[in-house]
Amino acid sequence: MTTEAVRKGLLIVFEGTDGTGKSTQVHLLSHYLQDRGYPVIATREPTEGPYGKKIRSLYMHRNAYSREEELELFLADRREHVQQLLDPALAQGRIILCDRYFLSTAAYQGARGFDPEEILRRNRFAPDPDLALLFQAPLDTGLRRITSGRGEQLNDFEQKDSLNQVAAIFASIKRPYIQPIDASGSIEEVHEQVLNHVTPLLPAFSAAQV
Ligand code: ADP
Ligand code: MG
Repeated sequence: MTTEAVRKGLLIVFEGTDGTGKSTQVHLLSHYLQDRGYPVIATREPTEGPYGKKIRSLYMHRNAYSREEELELFLADRREHVQQLLDPALAQGRIILCDRYFLSTAAYQGARGFDPEEILRRNRFAPDPDLALLFQAPLDTGLRRITSGRGEQLNDFEQKDSLNQVAAIFASIKRPYIQPIDASGSIEEVHEQVLNHVTPLLPAFSAAQV
């Protein structure tokens, strides 16, 4: 990765199936770090850019696109995210919290029939995270949180059969930066686990800033 040499920040990504509490924990961690003076940026994929908007429009009518078209949309969205936000912010020494990243593409588009490792190869343009927190909870727990807590119906990416497969692919991917999070407990318990993984990275991060 060409940008790796100038990289000073931290990239922490939140991965896992729907309703496991990723967005909730991004928000909590972002405030925790801000309160302690860290230069933190919270972002998410799909992004708010044109490709991300198009992906969101697929949430209800996913079969309008072939699996290759769908994968290309996710890659285009990520390429833009890396160029416009992730690479510059890492070079500036910021801590980026990203709600979903390329492991989600490997798992969700993998469940559509791609080899997850092929998807990861096609993501080599994107910087590896320093830490990928993999949120894991029984599928029913996540689905219950979505339908009761968020007050939503399941969308095309959240159908139960394919979500089992998505969870299995997430669990099968081995990378040194992946840390599993037991997301079945309370919001506070999960936050504690997140901090246990994040705080060891912070002193090194501060030292790198001087
Ligand atoms: P995700 O981003 O992984 O899909 P969210 O953070 O949006 O999940 O959480 C889904 C719903 O569950 C929200 O209504 C949220 O308030 C609630 N929630 C999040 N974490 C927990 C938790 N640990 N226990 C109970 N409810 C939770
Ligand atoms: Mg979310």
